[in-house]
Amino acid sequence: MARGYNFAAGPSMLPETVIQQVQTAVADYEGQGYSILEMMHRKPAFEAVLLELKSRVKSLLNVPDDFEILFCPGGGKMQFAMVPLNLVTQGCRGGYVVTGTWSRMASEEARRVAREVTLWAGDGCELPTNVIRVPNDVDYVYFCDNETVDGTEFTGLPMVDNDEVRFVSDMSSNFMSRPIDFTRYAAIWAGVQKNFGTAGLACVIVRRDMLGCAAEIVPSMLDWSVYAKNNSLQNTPPVLQFYTAMLMARWVDEQGGVEEMDRRAKARSDMLYGAIDDMSDFYVCKLAPGVRSRMNVVFNLADESLIPTFVAEAAAQGMTNLAGHRSVGGLRASLYNVMPMEGVEKLTAFMRDFAGRYGKGR
Ligand code: PMP
Repeated sequence: MARGYNFAAGPSMLPETVIQQVQTAVADYEGQGYSILEMMHRKPAFEAVLLELKSRVKSLLNVPDDFEILFCPGGGKMQFAMVPLNLVTQGCRGGYVVTGTWSRMASEEARRVAREVTLWAGDGCELPTNVIRVPNDVDYVYFCDNETVDGTEFTGLPMVDNDEVRFVSDMSSNFMSRPIDFTRYAAIWAGVQKNFGTAGLACVIVRRDMLGCAAEIVPSMLDWSVYAKNNSLQNTPPVLQFYTAMLMARWVDEQGGVEEMDRRAKARSDMLYGAIDDMSDFYVCKLAPGVRSRMNVVFNLADESLIPTFVAEAAAQGMTNLAGHRSVGGLRASLYNVMPMEGVEKLTAFMRDFAGRYGKGR
């Protein structure tokens, strides 16, 4: 079957060239006589993959020298626990800005494993516009840069009344889609399966002086400083995930880097939001323009009973996975780095045709 446009929220589209390279590596890794699936992580062949991955992440994101780049198995949600286990200090708390599904889950996990205070909470459709008060016993201010389910994305740091406090951000769904200014961060992290590879691995970029705060009881596999000391190789790592992320890093580089990813992301999402707003009697996006995500366009049909038909007809034309997250329903088109502009052109043409056939004017 021909490759279509996969609008899934993650795992999501990979470039065909990356898939082909993975296929070749699964058969025989660079003429070594064994598959990447059989590759030992303590051999020069894997060390070269890890070295290239780290150095490309560093240069693509301009990561300052006082930050460590770590790769942790366990995907995104594991970091919900690792952040507080590594950063909440004696008697203090993690401060959470809750803007949607993923930041809420992170705050709940922080409460489970350490201590948490919710600094701000919205209804999933909004982002804070006020200056948030940060109590003195807060170790870090946590937020989710892009809420994958709710479809909101920050354009800068949340405003807080404390110039010293450091931020932690979940960038799982907009990692490698724009430059990052690390100045105010303790750490940023991302599950890599959306813009940067396949599921099961998280990239954590943490300021070195924030490491080593984990309590003695914290298992070593949950302690960032153990990853830092062992070059992310404290156990047998998911070699294929590292390799795919390395290929993605090469791809982002070849395509022009994160500035170019940002330009494309804006072009794609502007086109789709434009189409939704043009046909606002048929398609509805309840998010204000200033909070709309470039990555996950969350919208609905004015007549929700048409959703199964919309999703099925789009899939029949090769545009798959357009149903909204099961918790919120509606529709969602995820437009990550690899989604070509043609995918959005095809989707918006389909939306016009669909509205013409099922709308009032039919
Ligand atoms: N954070 C965000 C913003 C996400 O979108 C997701 C997954 N969709 C996660 C965390 C959780 O990642 P994982 O499924 O790899 O645990």
